[in-house]
Order: sequence, then C-alpha cells, then structure tokens
Amino acid sequence: MSLIDKALEANRHYAKNYNPSLGKRPAPKVAVVTCMDPRLSDLPGILGLPHADLDVIRTGGPAVTEDVLGELVVSTRVLGTREILLLNHTGCGFTTFTDEELNAKLSASTGDASPAPMRFFSYKDPEQNTREQIKKVRSHPWIAKDVPVRGFVFDVDTGLLREVQPKAKRTAA
Ligand SMILES: [Zn+2]
Repeated sequence: MSLIDKALEANRHYAKNYNPSLGKRPAPKVAVVTCMDPRLSDLPGILGLPHADLDVIRTGGPAVTEDVLGELVVSTRVLGTREILLLNHTGCGFTTFTDEELNAKLSASTGDASPAPMRFFSYKDPEQNTREQIKKVRSHPWIAKDVPVRGFVFDVDTGLLREVQPKAKRTAA
C-alpha cells in the first residue's frame, strides 16, 4: 500500500472525531513564508504559536516568487494577517545545486531537454537569501508599510532561530 493510500484510510478515522468548528473562516495573525523542507513543518513547535494563527506559504528555498508575493498580499489584505515572517534554514537542499547544473543533469538523465531552462530558485547563502526576500517583500507597493517584515534562519542542528537584519542604512557621520 502506498503512503497516500494509508493516509486516506487514516483520514476516515480523523473525520470521525473532527471538530466542525475548525471549518469556520480562518483568522490567521502571522504570514510565514518557509521552505518545503519537512524539518520546517513543526511551525507551532518552532514558533510557539498555534496552527490557527499561522498562514503558511511554502516554496522551495523558500523562494519569494511573484506567486508568493500575491499570496502575501491576499494574506495581509484579505485574510487579515498583521506580520510577515520569512523563514529560511541551514542545510537547504536548494543550496546543493545551481539551476544550470540541475537543468543539465535532468536533461541528460531523462533524455528530454524541452523543459529547460527550468527555474528552481537555487541559492547559496541563507542569510543573503533572507536579506533579498526582506527587500523584495518590503518594497511591494501592496504590502502595507505598517506590516512588519522580518527574516530568520532556522538552524537545523540546534533548533534556534537567528534574525537577519536587512542591509543597514548608512547613518550620517
Ligand atoms: Zn530548504
């Protein structure tokens, strides 16, 4: 039996004890953009916030794509989240290749180069990635200026979050 078949069976048990009040309109408070990596899945544990408070947007990396920006606009403007948390992590799979390398590898191993060049949003440095994300989100005209945008790197070895400061503005001497 595949794991998905097992999951379907488990869902029938889940539904027996399901609380229908959970189906009401959600009212999340924080939008979290994070990687698809399973080590980032326990967000209530990592952040100490209940599932219901978190509007979670996941992409590989995470990459803040045009789609993600659209989701953040909906999250803050339609669903009512009040803060944006960008959550990167150490040891990300997307740092283990470049887009060029993966395109070449898959074109060769499948014998079909027609999807190339595919955009995988590989990157090298999670801190730098976070700084670019903060800039991208902060500069979007539809994301209100009074919504804080903060970026962090989750250390998969220690479980700790480290805040990444956006590029410091030069202060007049
Ligand atoms: Zn990752």
